Amino acid sequence: MTQIKPGSKIGILGGGQLGRMLAMAASRLGYRCHIFCPDVRSPAFQVASDFTIAEYENEDALLEFASSVDVATYEFENVPARTAEIVSRETLLRPGARALEVSQDRLTEKDFLNDCGVKTAPYMAFQTEEELDAAFKEIGRPSVAKTRRFGYDGKGQLMIKARKDIEGVMGMTSGVPAILEGFVAFDREISVVVARSASGDVAAFPVAENVHTNHILDTSTVPAQISEVVEAKAKVMATRIANALEYVGVMAVEMFVTDSTGEIVVNEIAPRVHNSGHWTIEGAETSQFEQHIRAICDLPLGPTDARGNVVMKNLLGEDILDFEKYLADPKAHYHHYGKQEPREGRKMGHVTWVNAEE
Ligand code: AMP
Repeated sequence: MTQIKPGSKIGILGGGQLGRMLAMAASRLGYRCHIFCPDVRSPAFQVASDFTIAEYENEDALLEFASSVDVATYEFENVPARTAEIVSRETLLRPGARALEVSQDRLTEKDFLNDCGVKTAPYMAFQTEEELDAAFKEIGRPSVAKTRRFGYDGKGQLMIKARKDIEGVMGMTSGVPAILEGFVAFDREISVVVARSASGDVAAFPVAENVHTNHILDTSTVPAQISEVVEAKAKVMATRIANALEYVGVMAVEMFVTDSTGEIVVNEIAPRVHNSGHWTIEGAETSQFEQHIRAICDLPLGPTDARGNVVMKNLLGEDILDFEKYLADPKAHYHHYGKQEPREGRKMGHVTWVNAEE
């Protein structure tokens, strides 16, 4: 395996907060970063040595970007397959194209997870109203309709409680490929952030318990209120998924847990650093961002232990303006992503508390 030594240059596709925090972690290890993003005001540009402002379809710009770096990675899962292919012509792309292919399409993803022996909600693909009707008969109610591609933070999703909701679903999908999945009556949502290095070493962070509000992550808490057995099972599942993908980098696996049975159902995977792993920056021995850099550069993975009880809260929209409150709190670590407009629901920053109760 090719080791990319500190001092080399890392390319990052995508210039949001995840790219920004990756570049900051890379910088500490002596790497320089080249960010590729079409948005002129990308938060990651502010902390990187090089940037390219171009569309993901711009072959010349992609080739120039790829030839300027020693390894390339991405901070979002909707990197077009052709973009990944172009970049791979000139440099190593880690994680590889397979992780993108699996995670970009909810049907491919669920098929893959079941092939790995990991349980998901029951699901059926549909496109037409007749197919949805048939799926509804099979899956039952309540169920959740989701477009197969480009859904995030609850976008492209609709709950079906009764047959009459089917019309609304067809209005949402407008005939694009979709899936209907059974609603999981879960007690908790958890996620496992796991790293696999180019040499095949694997390290999972402690499980985080996540609370969503309006489909957007609100808080992640570590340790999760689950038994040791469930914690261990969740990590084994995430490890199995990373190995099956021959994954290189950090990925997140989102899961539902039922308290009474301790059953774990995998909801989805994200082939990238993840919002539910932000707590690791101050709350774990190694941050998920540094771990991703270590994994793609084939350096030894860092220890993943938590440094105590940790809570991470997202700062959405104007929440970011409360900086004085957080900066006055000795247990709080305030992060601002450098975005200008605090639009409602927009992820502007986050705060992490480590051992705040002491
Ligand atoms: P997703 O976009 O698939 O991550 O879904 C966003 C959120 O919707 C999840 O974090 C859950 O809170 C909820 N959700 C999605 N699918 C299901 C399901 N099959 N059963 C119950 N809740 C779900």
